[in-house]
Amino acid sequence: MNDDEAAPPSSAPDRVPAFDPERFRVEGRAVVDWIADYWSAVERRPVLSSVAPGWVRSHLPSRAPEAPEPLADVLADADRVILPGLTHWQHPAFFGWFPASTCGPSILGELLAAGLGVQGMLWATSPACTELETLVLDWLRDLLGLPVRFASTGAGGGVIQDSASSGLLCALVAARERATDLRSNATGVDQDARPLVVYASVDAHSSVEKAAGIAGIGRQWLRRIPGAGGGMDPAALARAMDEDAGAGRRPCFVVATVGTTASGAVDPVPAIAAVAARHAAWLHVDAAWAGAAALCPEFRGPLLAGAEAADSWGFNPHKWLLVNFDCHALWVADRTALVRALSTKPDYLRNAASDAGGVIDYSDWQVPLGRRFRALKLWMTLRMLGAEALRARIRDHVTWAGEFAAMLRGDPRFELLAEPSLSLVCFALRSGDETSRDLLDRVNATGAACLSHARVAGRFALRLAIGGPLTERRHVEQVWRTLAALAGSA
Ligand SMILES: *Cc1c(COP(=O)(O)O)cnc(C)c1O
Repeated sequence: MNDDEAAPPSSAPDRVPAFDPERFRVEGRAVVDWIADYWSAVERRPVLSSVAPGWVRSHLPSRAPEAPEPLADVLADADRVILPGLTHWQHPAFFGWFPASTCGPSILGELLAAGLGVQGMLWATSPACTELETLVLDWLRDLLGLPVRFASTGAGGGVIQDSASSGLLCALVAARERATDLRSNATGVDQDARPLVVYASVDAHSSVEKAAGIAGIGRQWLRRIPGAGGGMDPAALARAMDEDAGAGRRPCFVVATVGTTASGAVDPVPAIAAVAARHAAWLHVDAAWAGAAALCPEFRGPLLAGAEAADSWGFNPHKWLLVNFDCHALWVADRTALVRALSTKPDYLRNAASDAGGVIDYSDWQVPLGRRFRALKLWMTLRMLGAEALRARIRDHVTWAGEFAAMLRGDPRFELLAEPSLSLVCFALRSGDETSRDLLDRVNATGAACLSHARVAGRFALRLAIGGPLTERRHVEQVWRTLAALAGSA
């Protein structure tokens, strides 16, 4: 035996059962307490981690332990090494990127899912896992006011994916299937040499480019369509699609973004849908962040305009709806192409329910085979908070963003780079990109808040996105005071 290799534990006392309900009861309470303490005190921590690369690793052993260690030691290391190495996404003054919000009921749903430990790849491998998911996505469709064609009771239906990126990839693969009939030609290979083409605005999320690469469309066949007044220009889209079709290429997939990542701009979906329809291209709506606001009827108009013409529509409850990561809701108007593209039924998965049809096998709606019971956290969040509380939070956030924008407007040193979009405000110092960048660095260096940046209208923009579960109006007021003080005489 190599000297480095310790002997395996030989005596029974060293063996700790991996699955001991009584021990779990005690340790589970301790971990829940630890999390509750974290939430209670997170406001006092610096929002952004300031550790240097390698710091975390250098403070932990380089090899895994041979003998069991007590939970208390592990939690002590979490306090000592893990917490300083975190950016605290649940900090009330976290305003960066988009929120990754969570809440008690969602975390408990996650715990239930882990505790049950089931695989929901097929209806037959855990019927409740599939049926609850179908039900809560029908609930959510109804709550958002999405068209009935996305309901599971018709040809469509919803599925939970890990992320908007995966949802978009699945939609693209379904679009390719519809355009090429790969399955029915039995080879699984596109025999047609004419390229398929994908369209999205210049401000669409980078996951479109990734999906085009993964799906074998080729990143070079992604057309980035310029914007007009914040959203994609439908006339430019029409020109690009006509030109491709005229040159013998196959326009296949159009992504409309409802709430761009940089500035929250909304594409004119009805006009885009009309152009896509002329070429029989699949229309996917990416509402990853902004979609949550459709819960409030007064915000619905621009968010849902054109949705009835979309083939797929997705948003992330894990951004602004208090369901912890990962939870992306994807609806399709017709599930045929999606299932045809992604289903595999090896012999060991054959079962009577699937063979008879009439059940959903969600492994046919996603890239991986196995899947977690993610519906539980969505179900528990909706049940234990109720829709009205979720709406009230979104309304608060939009109101506070409006108040923040009003304070910016009242200060001649600052300017808005776009109209506030829901709870997102993009702004800059009038004195230019350099001073804006410097202001961002300085506000983040205080540790009292976290903002991020983007390029908006060709300028360096500071971004303030409100959406954290612990954020109150006073935190927004405080970050404004900090910004105003640090801006000096800029
Ligand atoms: C955040 C975001 C995404 C990516 O979300 P993931 O779930 O992390 O893949 C895609 N599109 C838009 C518009 C987003 O804001």
